[in-house]
Amino acid sequence: MSGGSGRRPPVVVAANWKMHKDPPATGSFFREFRASTAEGGPRVLVFPPAASLAAAVAARPPGVSIGVQNIHWEDKGAFTGEISAPIARGAGASHALVGHSERRHLFGESDADVARKMAAALRHGLVPLLCVGETLREREAGRVEEVVLRQLDRALEELPGARADFLIAYEPVWAINTGRTATPADVEAAHGTLRGRLRERLGAAAADVSILYGGSVKPANARALMAADDVDGLLVGGASLDADQFADIVEAARSR
Ligand code: PEP
Repeated sequence: MSGGSGRRPPVVVAANWKMHKDPPATGSFFREFRASTAEGGPRVLVFPPAASLAAAVAARPPGVSIGVQNIHWEDKGAFTGEISAPIARGAGASHALVGHSERRHLFGESDADVARKMAAALRHGLVPLLCVGETLREREAGRVEEVVLRQLDRALEELPGARADFLIAYEPVWAINTGRTATPADVEAAHGTLRGRLRERLGAAAADVSILYGGSVKPANARALMAADDVDGLLVGGASLDADQFADIVEAARSR
């Protein structure tokens, strides 16, 4: 279970749109999105492409927070094509994805880069959503625990002190965008490992950190995933592009 004291982390459902939806499509999505985002229900986060950030900030209903999919660790400078945490904040973002597997595996982001991005986000008041997860080869070699703990420990290395104002997504690489979903038992094992490490590092404040599952989440499997121990929400890629499917997933997360 999530915390010895009975305190449980907030439920969060996040949409990662990756490289989909221009500004007009972003406006259309929010006109069609029907989930209730009233207080007391799951917190809803949407990560549009950077060029659609302003459209998302303008069109989102109350209760939906907007984040960027990536930030640079420097505050400013000659880094063509990059976005800093202060620029993201200035454009209306409140959250940042950090260490998504597509950034790690397609763009060569290292654990050290991820650590610097975590520190930059927190330094500028962006809540980071740290993504961790093993490849299929690592899973088959029995290295899930070692990999996710290494990714978590390294990501927190540059923080000035013990901080609990971030989110984690456990996203097995082999389940992202593949239609393969981890079983609730796989998810419980990985989330339990991460929660244990958070307790070692943060004590009771570990119960403030929501741990989301991501990897081919759909309306049909969302409820079963949310029922697994230590699952405090979902990070959704493909299915979040459809306003009705994403709303159904937000509703399913209400079941916890
Ligand atoms: C993701 O992009 O973080 C993700 C989980 O994608 P999908 O839901 O499409 O597997």
